[in-house]
Amino acid sequence: MNHEKGNPPIISGENIVKTFGDTKVLNEINIEIYDGDFTVIMGTSGSGKSTLLYCLSGMEQATGGTIHCGDQAVTGASEKELTKLRANKFGFVFQKTHLVSNLTLYENIVMAGLIGSGLSEKDIRERARRLAAQMNLQDAVDRLPSQVSGGEAQRAAVARAVMGNPAILFADEPTGALNKANTKEVLNLFTSLHEKGQTILLVTHDKEAALRGNRILYIEDGRVISELVLSEYGKDDDIREKKLGAWLEGLGW
Ligand code: ADP
Ligand code: MG
Repeated sequence: MNHEKGNPPIISGENIVKTFGDTKVLNEINIEIYDGDFTVIMGTSGSGKSTLLYCLSGMEQATGGTIHCGDQAVTGASEKELTKLRANKFGFVFQKTHLVSNLTLYENIVMAGLIGSGLSEKDIRERARRLAAQMNLQDAVDRLPSQVSGGEAQRAAVARAVMGNPAILFADEPTGALNKANTKEVLNLFTSLHEKGQTILLVTHDKEAALRGNRILYIEDGRVISELVLSEYGKDDDIREKKLGAWLEGLGW
């Protein structure tokens, strides 16, 4: 849990403001995301979770404040710099998979490597096979997105997102469209990536998903109003679940 070790954050945002017309969705948010952490952002629907994720990852320009990823400024960065950051440092998973419908899962994963990883095509194909196996996609990998389950498609989307070895994996409600069994598979995948050292920033309003994190932030009225630090998932989960439940209850969840 690197947030306790005083390491510099991977992403740091100071006084982030985002307005849409007259509505201030993010109201001077200060946030730091640490290397190796599985950070979760919770909050009710419409509280600004997605907007915060989009601003931190440079998909949207913040209206005010500053955001840095290491030495690279995200706020005020040129389109070219942002493209480079997204290709080299960031991975993204959304509720919808955005897989290319006429390519197999495998080709979708490979394609991400061709764009972002800087590896040779042979290495990319090997890495894609390895990731697909790690994600239990052996049976589905040569099918089209329309021929696999929602969970398989989302696992392929996660494989695609980590093809380029991102410094941080951003996920916005990745299980929002999945049934219980598929949700569990995808969450297990996030846990296993985190155990291997992947830094993750997950936005969710699902308690089960949040329980996978080791640091949970709660946003309300455009601000981070509370933070809960948990031990790692997989041990003492009953206690962790109780802690999370009590914390959320205290926040009026
Ligand atoms: P969450 O992800 O927590 O559900 P969002 O970040 O999507 O919340 O949205 C926060 C608020 O900002 C909502 O009131 C939403 O309607 C508004 N909002 C988000 N994106 C836009 C946009 N592009 N234009 C106008 N309003 C927006
Ligand atoms: Mg959202």
